[in-house]
Amino acid sequence: MVDAPATLRRVGDLIAAGLIPNERRADLDRVAERYAIAITPEMARLLDPGDPTDPIARQFVPDRRELDMVAAENADPIGDHTHSPIKGLVHRYPDRVLLKPSHACPVYCRFCFRREMVGPGGEGLTSAELAACFDYIRAKPAIWEVVITGGDPLILAPRRLAEIIETLSTIDHVAVIRLHTRVPVVDPRRIDTALLSALRSDKAVFVALHANHPREITDAAAQACRLIIASGIPIVSQTVLLKGINDDVAVLEALFRRFVSLRIKPYYLHQADLAPGTAHFRTTIDAGQELMRRLRGRLSGLAQPHYVLDIPGGYGKVPIGPEYLTGAETPGCWEVLDYLGNHHQITG
Ligand code: SF4
Repeated sequence: MVDAPATLRRVGDLIAAGLIPNERRADLDRVAERYAIAITPEMARLLDPGDPTDPIARQFVPDRRELDMVAAENADPIGDHTHSPIKGLVHRYPDRVLLKPSHACPVYCRFCFRREMVGPGGEGLTSAELAACFDYIRAKPAIWEVVITGGDPLILAPRRLAEIIETLSTIDHVAVIRLHTRVPVVDPRRIDTALLSALRSDKAVFVALHANHPREITDAAAQACRLIIASGIPIVSQTVLLKGINDDVAVLEALFRRFVSLRIKPYYLHQADLAPGTAHFRTTIDAGQELMRRLRGRLSGLAQPHYVLDIPGGYGKVPIGPEYLTGAETPGCWEVLDYLGNHHQITG
């Protein structure tokens, strides 16, 4: 446990807090020149500085392996730039857009797929740029859902967030406003009356909460989630499958049970993207499928997320199994696998 009065943002802060030894300073200064650092007091309190495998520390404390890039990695792994018609907007699917009003986050995750784009220096959208995004959305009646992401939209000032929600709420064809955030977990004090009132809308507002390990869901985080849900906003979860952090069936089971017990629907388990310097976090897809197979027998359907991959290059998100049904040799017959791994022939 590290008692930090404020968010830790510099390598020197991490050394002073006993999170990393001084000998690693030169390497980690090089990491910090390239990728932002931020560890909120809530996350600092959770991590064990004496344990190099601590699943909270590994998510936020920089590592020199971030300087090693493998061939398949890409600064824009899911093709945001390819599908960005104007600054701050990504339009990948006909019925939805991503709106990115700010590039700042309360923490900087070492595996972030937008790590080349996020950081405290990354400017947010100006009022004129934001107005251009609203004009774009207004002009495209097919846009049914707006996903506000970034960065983390819940670190915007409530007044600014309220303006965004209010403006989107005036666009008839926008039915759903979804906010992707880590704030309720990593900085739960931000979930206060002002922020909740900023999220108020006649449209269907959803929160997609990013959390990767059951230890992240502290009492304060649980209370922040309860406040959001009590204000009429459903929460779904998204989790990144991370080697050495949550690639373990018992850890994932505990995380998904915790979500459901808080009335948060497990939504996505992401195969980690090919972001630069993140190879040490990635599992194989085989390993992810095996975890999902084992979860099928341990958890009810309510607690099962979809295991998904964002196809590198920006071709969209797809479920990546595991498969339970394969064609059998006899036409009209199928071979189906049960949760114990037994095969059955069925017709259909
Ligand atoms: S909070 Fe989200 S956008 Fe920000 S660094 Fe973490 S994964 Fe990336």
